[in-house]
Amino acid sequence: MGPSVLVVMLTVAPLQVRVLEREHPSSVRVTGTVSCGEATVPGPVEVTVGARELRVGETTCAEVVVTQATVTVGDVTRTYPGTLRLSLDGASVRLVDELDVETYLPSVVEAEAGGQKPAALEAQAVVSRTFALASRRRHRDYDLCDLSHCQLFRGTSSDEASRAAVAKTKGQVLLSGSVALKPVYFHASCGGHTSSAREVFGEDSGGPGVSDAEAGSVRCHDAPDFAWSFVLERAKASEALGGRDDVPVVEVLRRDEGGRVIELKLFGHRMTGSDFLSRAGRAFGWQALRSAKFQVEEVEGVVRFTGAGRGHGVGLCQAGAQSLAQRGVDAKGILARYFPDARLADVAGFTR
Ligand SMILES: [Zn+2]
Ligand SMILES: [Zn+2]
Repeated sequence: MGPSVLVVMLTVAPLQVRVLEREHPSSVRVTGTVSCGEATVPGPVEVTVGARELRVGETTCAEVVVTQATVTVGDVTRTYPGTLRLSLDGASVRLVDELDVETYLPSVVEAEAGGQKPAALEAQAVVSRTFALASRRRHRDYDLCDLSHCQLFRGTSSDEASRAAVAKTKGQVLLSGSVALKPVYFHASCGGHTSSAREVFGEDSGGPGVSDAEAGSVRCHDAPDFAWSFVLERAKASEALGGRDDVPVVEVLRRDEGGRVIELKLFGHRMTGSDFLSRAGRAFGWQALRSAKFQVEEVEGVVRFTGAGRGHGVGLCQAGAQSLAQRGVDAKGILARYFPDARLADVAGFTR
């Protein structure tokens, strides 16, 4: 199977995005065109969890299918494009939205980069499209979740600028090493240098990390988290992360060329920088350690982290992209800076 055939298949099949999973809904209010088995039920209806099947009024079925769906779960009401499929998942209702990638993207661009300049939004659209199409079955039973683990997705977007960015870049993806459709990533701000997916995630995609400096100034310098610090008492760290008394809280073992901590010891336990960030985030909140690009010193029972940037640092630096867009650089120019080894390709061209 040649690469173009593969790209066509990846492009044509609808994406399956699981939505509202965190809410664990036992009851979902739905409007739209609702079918439950053979029956078509006029909305609005309440879909609830039955013994072995879903329940819509007196009717039961294994799967409820809704088009033009507006869904209310607790306080959250969202409208979903595409076809929404509801099924039983233990004691809650599982909602999976099946939709074309171009229909999926406006909400992602709005949620992840809303308010940015058009060229930055277009660069985001290309990165998010590439990520989505290259991330089939990132989850076992569906392609993508609607959280930042994959990409934020909140249903239909009415943000004109995000919709325009998706339309203008329709079908455009980045091919890693100029040939392969692999996931590419983005983050809020790199703090001066990005990192490779190979170093941070152990994945071979997206190319090398790059300097985000140009003519002596760093592009994401104005980002709110360009420079940050976090101070932690050793006793607190020990309590939250399970420490020993005879070793430093954090000992950096290896950094990449972007300055990110790739490997460290936490109370003598070897782990990756990413794992450490997740553990610290769960223990102290996601505002505490904002990236793995940090220096650390421990003095008299106080651990001080001094860091730069926010997020994992791989791929597109969103704050840098915005700064380039403000200076008149177009989306292609922005992408070329953060993905120097990638080629912008038009997958829509294969399917026309
Ligand atoms: Zn996910
Ligand atoms: Zn940057």
